[in-house]
Amino acid sequence: MAQPTIGFIGLGIMGGPMAGRLLDAGYPLVAFDRNADRTAALVAHGAALGADAADVAARSDLIITMLPDTPDVEAVYFGPRGILERIRPGALAVDMSTIAPAMAQRIGAAAAERGCTALDAPVSGGDVGAQQGTLSIMVGGEEAAFERARPVFSVLGKRVVLCGAHGAGQTVKACNQILVGVTIAGVAEALTLGAKAGVDPARIVEVLSGGLARCGVLENRGQRMVQGDFAPGFRSRLHYKDLRIAVASGQDFDVPLPVTALVHELFKELVLQGGGDLDHSGLLTLIEARAGISARTQG
Ligand code: NAD
Repeated sequence: MAQPTIGFIGLGIMGGPMAGRLLDAGYPLVAFDRNADRTAALVAHGAALGADAADVAARSDLIITMLPDTPDVEAVYFGPRGILERIRPGALAVDMSTIAPAMAQRIGAAAAERGCTALDAPVSGGDVGAQQGTLSIMVGGEEAAFERARPVFSVLGKRVVLCGAHGAGQTVKACNQILVGVTIAGVAEALTLGAKAGVDPARIVEVLSGGLARCGVLENRGQRMVQGDFAPGFRSRLHYKDLRIAVASGQDFDVPLPVTALVHELFKELVLQGGGDLDHSGLLTLIEARAGISARTQG
């Protein structure tokens, strides 16, 4: 059977390498990003050029979006020259951005009205996971659509789980971002305390990575913190956005999230102070500044 044509919209840190992997796996792909340089890079890799989101939808069996925030996804689906204007009956739309669960549910309903299906499928694993095809993919939607998308997911990720109905993937992603954000804040506080007390932070990361405190954040982001390398990676402004989604979900479901709310405030402060384009491990700079450690040179 011929490979389905994939439309890919949003070719940034994550979407660019993900689309590249799908091209390398042999899928015909129509690419579009509002940043023309990013679209051109994918066309140079073998993709067809999409004029806008509606054009991509009209030419694709399966459409993937990988956009920054809920309003971006709303504009690309529901706006003028958006996906829903031209989506083909029977097509499958997969939003892999991290957005509010309610928007994922709205897209699911709008797709069904047009005889199409949709999945929310946000990811974890970062830029390296996107490049290597080792993402974790948390999916919301119907089982049949999930099975249809599975071969595509298997090019992009190693652990792919159907979490529940429309929006469930986004809810699980919010849970993930709580854990990662709270852990980054904890690692930043621990390294700041250790450094100010005169211990080499590299030693702290080395020894704690062998004990109960070992975790992906400490092993991966701990190194960046030690080196002061805060090139993104995952931008602080995006993690701030994700914690906003988590805090709002806590309000929607009457779940107290005091620790998440505090870390949300810390990321807000970092972003307001101009650190939004630092990697989220750059939260260390805020914790250090509060401890009276002078600003370091950013990587
Ligand atoms: P990015 O800012 O690098 O890329 C987003 C891309 O979307 C940009 O190229 C931008 O030009 C494009 N775009 C925005 N609005 C558009 C529009 N209306 N039409 C067409 N293109 C548009 O962001 P990213 O790091 O690739 O993240 C994308 C999503 O993935 C976000 O929701 C983020 O939270 C999530 N995510 C990121 C990471 C990470 O490590 N970077 C990890 C997991 C999940």
